[in-house]
Amino acid sequence: MSHIDEKLQPILSTLLHRNAGEKEFHQALNEVLESVGRVISKHPEYAEEALIERICEPERQIIFRVPWIDDNNEVQINRGFRVQFNSALGPYKGGLRFHPSVNVGIIKFLGFEQTFKNALTGLPIGGGKGGSDFNPRGRSNREIMRFCQSFMMELHRHIGEYIDVPAGDIGVGGREIGYMFGIYKRLTNRYEAGVLTGKGLSYGGSRARTEATGYGNAYFVQRMLGTKGTSFDGKRCVISGSGNVAIYAMEKVLSFGGKVVACSDSDGYVVDDAGIDLELVKQIKEVQRERISEYARLKGSGCHYIKGGSIWDVPCDVALPSATQNELNGGDAKSLVENGVIAIGEGANMPCTPEAVHIFQEAGVLFAPGKAANAGGVATSALEMQQNASRDSWTFEKTEERLAEIMHNIHDACAETAEEYGAPGNYVLGANITGFVRVAEAMRALGIV
Ligand code: GLU
Repeated sequence: MSHIDEKLQPILSTLLHRNAGEKEFHQALNEVLESVGRVISKHPEYAEEALIERICEPERQIIFRVPWIDDNNEVQINRGFRVQFNSALGPYKGGLRFHPSVNVGIIKFLGFEQTFKNALTGLPIGGGKGGSDFNPRGRSNREIMRFCQSFMMELHRHIGEYIDVPAGDIGVGGREIGYMFGIYKRLTNRYEAGVLTGKGLSYGGSRARTEATGYGNAYFVQRMLGTKGTSFDGKRCVISGSGNVAIYAMEKVLSFGGKVVACSDSDGYVVDDAGIDLELVKQIKEVQRERISEYARLKGSGCHYIKGGSIWDVPCDVALPSATQNELNGGDAKSLVENGVIAIGEGANMPCTPEAVHIFQEAGVLFAPGKAANAGGVATSALEMQQNASRDSWTFEKTEERLAEIMHNIHDACAETAEEYGAPGNYVLGANITGFVRVAEAMRALGIV
């Protein structure tokens, strides 16, 4: 608590107490409130009318039972969540995560981060997040479908194109969104395309949505490198994860002239000094839905798979953590710094621990926080909503152009705010303050609701 402004200390203590045991949510609250201290010394009006307390309290939290029947005819029970965090800027917007680690604290941290991330996009979307502790690993297509249908059987009454618009996150991709849209359509008897984003192209999805989070992170980091007169060209990159975010970050980094030498999944990582073969990763992860160890088996010589261990031991110039929260700790940050890393771009939500962020900042490493660097996914979701509302479908080029422009704007807004608050180059501060001020302005205008 040492870096928190003293006016905010009692607020934070109450928050930690009221949300006892929710360690990821505590971490996100700490990080945001640390930055907000600087705003309220300059603009005390933002601390009036319990605005800080209101912004940290979700507007609504829904927790529900999800019963479903597996392929062995056994009844399974999971828990479903939707935290509708803030709707000052627009309908609640944010992904659904299906992963056994999911609990209310994780969904709250994600919803809280999402609120500021969405504000940073400059598009009219509030913040929310949801999901389930359902583990999709090893489940058949039919089991996934039955689970998605049961999940939506409850969720449908809480969402809508003007209410709350879910999308994907870990464990939820095009297949799951398709099953959920299908049952939503049947339950409501409405073809309400704008109720979910990340849809397939055949039923109202947007081009470039699949690529958007990874591409967006690469665009952000490219611009950040540009402030130091450099770029991805010729840089050695390590990208953790091998899901949607990691795969399309790799694709854009390659097109910027970078070389990706390692990627991972939750079991281990592969290092390929010749450069990761992106088509092979796509084949393994998107078509076969296999583990990344398959990469080393199929690729053979020149490449190795390390079970367990830390991908951050692999020397690189740029690291893009794109797997999950707290995947990169203080020790990992130290070895990256020792190996000469110059920039980090968070593709996942809060992948670096507070200690790791501190180490990077002390060492003068360029650091792009997730709520700014990975905002390209949700920004393109908002473009999907725009296309749905106008019954239009844009080309890939047009959509990507908008995405690049949005990422550049986010970068520049964060950099300018950091400068204005006396901390040039501090993108964490820049992102937190810019996002906070946009939400706070709207909340002040809307009164105490
Ligand atoms: N799950 C993504 C995120 O963390 C995307 C959310 C969305 O498109 O609504 O931002």
